[in-house]
Amino acid sequence: MKRVAIVNQKGGVGKTTTTVNLGAALAKHGKRVAILDLDPQGNASTHLGIDLKPGEASTYGVLTGGCSLEEALRETATPGLFVAPCDLDLSGAEMELALVDQREHVLRRILDRWEREGGSDGQPPVDVVLMDCPPSLGLLSLNALVAAREVIVALQAQFLSLQGLSKLLEVVGHIRAGLNPSLSVAGIVACQMDYRLRLSREVLGELRRHFPEVCFQRTIGVNVKLAEAPGHGKSIFDYAPGSSGARDYDRLAQEWMARWEPQPVA
Ligand code: ADP
Ligand code: MG
Repeated sequence: MKRVAIVNQKGGVGKTTTTVNLGAALAKHGKRVAILDLDPQGNASTHLGIDLKPGEASTYGVLTGGCSLEEALRETATPGLFVAPCDLDLSGAEMELALVDQREHVLRRILDRWEREGGSDGQPPVDVVLMDCPPSLGLLSLNALVAAREVIVALQAQFLSLQGLSKLLEVVGHIRAGLNPSLSVAGIVACQMDYRLRLSREVLGELRRHFPEVCFQRTIGVNVKLAEAPGHGKSIFDYAPGSSGARDYDRLAQEWMARWEPQPVA
């Protein structure tokens, strides 16, 4: 079971858009995918059409012991894609967790047990867990980074992104050195790319020069359909399957899958 945190301490860069649409693309390719909404803004939940009612099972309940992960996970309109939703209540979890012993390990223990106990057939319950992180490096992100085995960084090709990326990779390094030795960077994806802007192309060039192995070749271009889809509670594949956004996320998913499932050379 792949356990992946989608991170960037900056907001508005494309984490949630990537979590939802990459998850939907993987599900279309036959993977079973669970998205954990760990941002109290609940954007991934809304994007997948979920309107959480008071008292319903959520990642808040999961982290604070009120419910199990199985109870919180729901099916989405995309077969094979599940989401454990949240709402603003989750911001309270940050404070509640602060009082817990081994507070950075709460989500890790939950995922360990879920993976170990498996689905009905003894296999891991899903192939991929994608954790949509909040735009900060607080206790919720820390729990995701300790529970994850891999990180995908979503960023925008702007001047300050590179500085933010170095800081983020430093944090990942610290976590690998201490709390989670098995953490690696699975990829860096440039979102909201505008190829007409020289600055974007230059930053992308820098990114590829510094991180040739982990930078995804596929970038996500600016596409208004990607911005509209959340308002309709649908992934890009249900909202606008013919859009450039759908194509970009499908190709990104294929590129990523090829890294973990190398195809035989034809
Ligand atoms: P984050 O989760 O990092 O805060 P989001 O994924 O929510 O970022 O994206 C921020 C905003 O930009 C959202 O309104 C989203 O719909 C929009 N957006 C994200 N990616 C694209 C894209 N490739 N083209 C156009 N709009 C995008
Ligand atoms: Mg988000």
